[in-house]
Amino acid sequence: MSDILTMCKIVLSSLRKKTACQMYPVKPAKFYKNSRGHIALEPAKCILCTLCAKRCPTGAIEVDRTKGVWQINRFKCILCNECVHSCRPVALSMENQYAAPSANKDIETHNVEIKKPAAKPVAPGESAENS
Ligand code: SF4
Ligand code: SF4
Repeated sequence: MSDILTMCKIVLSSLRKKTACQMYPVKPAKFYKNSRGHIALEPAKCILCTLCAKRCPTGAIEVDRTKGVWQINRFKCILCNECVHSCRPVALSMENQYAAPSANKDIETHNVEIKKPAAKPVAPGESAENS
C-alpha cells in the first residue's frame, strides 16, 4: 500500500513540473559551439591522402585518389571526430548544425582536384629533365 502511495506522490509531483524533454520539433533544437552536427569538407584543401578513410571506425568515408573523389555516407557516420583529427591539411571540420534530413541513403560525393607533387628543385648546372 505504501508503494502505491509513493508512486501516486511521484506522479502528482511530476504533473506539476515542467517537462525535462526538449519539445523538438515544436521548439527548434539548440546548437552550441561544440555541438557535433556533421562533417564538412573543403575540397580545395584536400590532398587525397586517404588518412580520414583509413582512420574512420565505421567506414563512412571513401577516397579515390586516381579519380579525385571524396565520399561520405552520413548514415554510417557516428560523429566521433577522428577524421577531423587525422586530416593534416585541415580540410575537414565538425560543423555544429545537423546535415539536412533525408529518406534516401545517398552517398555525398565531392570532386577534389588531383594535385601534382611539387617539382624537385634543380641544382645549378643540372637540367630539369635529368632530375
Ligand atoms: S566523424 Fe568518425 S565516423 Fe564520422 S566520418 Fe569522421 S571518422 Fe568516420
Ligand atoms: S580530407 Fe584530409 S585526411 Fe581526408 S583525404 Fe583529404 S586531406 Fe587526407
